[in-house]
Amino acid sequence: MADNARRWNGWGLAGESVPVPTAACEWLTSRIGTGDPLSAVDESAVVVTPARTLTALPAASMSDAATRLRFACGQSFPDLLALRTGRIEAFPDAVCFPENADEVVRLLRAATDHGLAVIPRGGGTSVVGGVTVAPDAKPIVVLSLERLHGLETLDAASRLAIFRAGTLGPEVEASLAPHGLRLGHEPQSFEFSTVGGWVASRSAGQRSTGIGKIEDLVAGVEVATPSGLWRLPPQPASAAGPELRRLVAGSEGRLGVITAATLRVRELPEVEDGQVVLLPSWSAGSEVCRALLQSGNRVEVLRLSDPTETSFATTLVPLSRMQAIVSQMLFGFPRYRHGCLLLLGWAGAAQDVVLARHAAARVWREHEGLSLGESGWRRWRADRFRHPYLRDALLTRGWGVDTLETAAQWSRLGGVWNAVPTAMRAAAEAMGFRTAVMCHLSHAYPDGASLYFTFLWPLRAGSEFSQWNTLKRAATTALLAAGGTLSHHHGVGTMHAPYLESEVGEQGTAVLSAIVRALDPGATLNPRVLLDRGTINRSEPSGDGGDR
Ligand SMILES: Cc1cc2nc3c(=O)[nH]c(=O)nc-3n(C[C@H](O)[C@H](O)[C@H](O)COP(=O)(O)OP(=O)(O)OC[C@H]3O[C@@H](n4cnc5c(N)ncnc54)[C@H](O)[C@@H]3O)c2cc1C
Repeated sequence: MADNARRWNGWGLAGESVPVPTAACEWLTSRIGTGDPLSAVDESAVVVTPARTLTALPAASMSDAATRLRFACGQSFPDLLALRTGRIEAFPDAVCFPENADEVVRLLRAATDHGLAVIPRGGGTSVVGGVTVAPDAKPIVVLSLERLHGLETLDAASRLAIFRAGTLGPEVEASLAPHGLRLGHEPQSFEFSTVGGWVASRSAGQRSTGIGKIEDLVAGVEVATPSGLWRLPPQPASAAGPELRRLVAGSEGRLGVITAATLRVRELPEVEDGQVVLLPSWSAGSEVCRALLQSGNRVEVLRLSDPTETSFATTLVPLSRMQAIVSQMLFGFPRYRHGCLLLLGWAGAAQDVVLARHAAARVWREHEGLSLGESGWRRWRADRFRHPYLRDALLTRGWGVDTLETAAQWSRLGGVWNAVPTAMRAAAEAMGFRTAVMCHLSHAYPDGASLYFTFLWPLRAGSEFSQWNTLKRAATTALLAAGGTLSHHHGVGTMHAPYLESEVGEQGTAVLSAIVRALDPGATLNPRVLLDRGTINRSEPSGDGGDR
């Protein structure tokens, strides 16, 4: 059933919004100028093309226009553009809501027999085209996991919990908390993304530096395929051939439908503590992060904003005290003019947290760090799931905004950090507009870290897609050339598929193709993600007269 509480053409709950602060508008206007507001059409103005007739499906299904519209897109910039303008390329012919794993298997068998394509969908928060319906000769069924949710079993002794795939982040934590446990996997999309979606796209939560990515937390999986249920049970460790659970992580709905996952959970922390530190430069900040990870500091949240993100962040945070201090540091002392904010958070036994915090202080002091106290940490904790609402507000004000992410080893990280904005600025300039590119380092490891770029630009009516596409291509080419990975946690989807081979090699795509054929010989399952170059090369404006 379509979730009417969610906004149909943007982020989050329909009743929620976050305005762009005046200071942020001024910051953007002075750096990149103003653009053409992208207003959103009314739902009644969207023409939902008629559904193709399907033979009876072995699970509850809906094919009314409102449901098909709500399940047509994900949350990428092209998705938002399509939803706001009402120019949506394709709609599913039906949306199915299976209630158990056997129903999913029956559905996949029927789809294979009748030549349908099936797009598994969790929360629909993919930003890489993973759930976007594209025109296809095959009828398309979106398989929503939303009725398959909840905690199935808890093995408290082993700290393993089996969750059904459609369980949303808040339900995961709410069902563990009474047992004194938590998962701690908190992507920014936490409220609206699911266990199955996390595993299928190898997501990373904001605590991943301490807790690991989802693939580190998955101990076992149950996957529905057209040939039946495939169970990979949890083992603490095993040498029974290659690690197939890892193959399922990142399969993006192409190898099967994850119906349940066994997740490694941990004790609720006794205390949680954090602080914000100002470092004089990006290189000093990166050195602090590297030293913390390589010295084994048990920091759980780590986020270093570069000077541009630091400057922009001070326009967003209504924390006047912090703003005043940071501004004073940035503009008052030449040493901190290119200052970078570092957010650090710890959770665990009180004594361990104190020790880790002291150990970290020794490191950041060596690099001329200045503590800005705990209030910035508390504000970040309180607001972190509200920031995505800004995307919609920025579009309405005429600024395009999107994010992309990568990871690289420490020895290459500075090169990637430099190369991406340089390439994007040049690409924008060639098209006659300016872009502001900002970055934070997060999800750090002893051998490297993830870089997360946010880019903004003034929208030009009718060219929004071309502007975005130009920036995105320049960034992807630059980050790959500089040694970054195609994606640290958003995944491949349809958007990055043309680039996958450059990372995994011809042998890699050949192996992946062979596995897809073995598990899904009818090419029923999400056939455009991961490997379909043809689909992605469709990234120029469509012929409907619109820009997308
Ligand atoms: C505002 C915002 C913030 C975000 N923040 C983060 C972040 O902090 N960290 C992060 O990692 N990602 C983030 N993302 C990206 C996205 O939320 C993640 O990729 C998330 O894991 C997707 O989960 P989902 O349930 O929404 O999956 P969906 O978007 O529904 O699906 C994603 C992919 O997985 C497949 N899939 C979904 N469920 C299943 C299943 N049960 N079996 C098989 N395949 C399945 C789909 O076919 C698709 O290919 C963010 C996205 C947005 C819009």
